[in-house]
Amino acid sequence: MGQNYSTRFESVRDKVSAEEWQTRVDLAACYRLMDKFGMTDLIYNHITARIPGADDHLLINLYGLLYREITASSLVKIDVEGNILWKPETDYGINKSGYVIHGAIHKARPEVKCVIHTHTRAGMAVSSMKCGLLPMTQTAMRFVGHIGYHDYEGPAVNLEERERLTRDLGAHDAMILRNHGLLTCGATIQQAFNTMYQLELSCRAQVDAMAARTGLTLPPQEVLEHTAHLYQPGTRRPYGVLEWHALRRLLDAEDGNSGYPPYWH
Ligand SMILES: [Zn+2]
Repeated sequence: MGQNYSTRFESVRDKVSAEEWQTRVDLAACYRLMDKFGMTDLIYNHITARIPGADDHLLINLYGLLYREITASSLVKIDVEGNILWKPETDYGINKSGYVIHGAIHKARPEVKCVIHTHTRAGMAVSSMKCGLLPMTQTAMRFVGHIGYHDYEGPAVNLEERERLTRDLGAHDAMILRNHGLLTCGATIQQAFNTMYQLELSCRAQVDAMAARTGLTLPPQEVLEHTAHLYQPGTRRPYGVLEWHALRRLLDAEDGNSGYPPYWH
């Protein structure tokens, strides 16, 4: 018996609610953007999103696909415990142990609609630094007082660690998993992506600056706090909304001739 690892999936557009379809398209776009901006780790990691109107139902990637292969119709519907409610006809499944971190946050923070976790080179580097994320650049300053840290406890996340994970995240939308990687979440897929993009960029700049082995200058604490406040999503405008249209145009223009199925399929 040959296994069905085909990546041609039947469209579910006419089989799901309008809200679910929109979430599928936005989430598939988010996977593609993570790929485009160099934030992937082969077939690993996840981005999960809640389906509006069915808030205990989430969407997650099939385990085995590159992010650039993920489409709206290939996403798997699961409950908050990670049980599969629907998946396309395929022998690919989901990475249930990888979902545990996401599940803990979705359960503890009902207002969170999307969780993104990465193992990027710069994210892993900063996650291993004693100093953590430095408020070194304007991009990094938004995280002053708005980022959690979770100590590494091994690859398997048990029930007690879930509690420590959600405690360490607190009310923040960003967390550094020490010796492991990065995590962001948000009220929308767009906002979670935007926060991850800024966190990743902050880590890349910090690694570059520290590799230059010269003294670093940091602004005074009151400037950092004022800046962090101005950059919170509620202060001036929600994050990622204005950006999203431009990012979707970028995907639409480039994905048409990438050789991979379009994300909106
Ligand atoms: Zn991980």
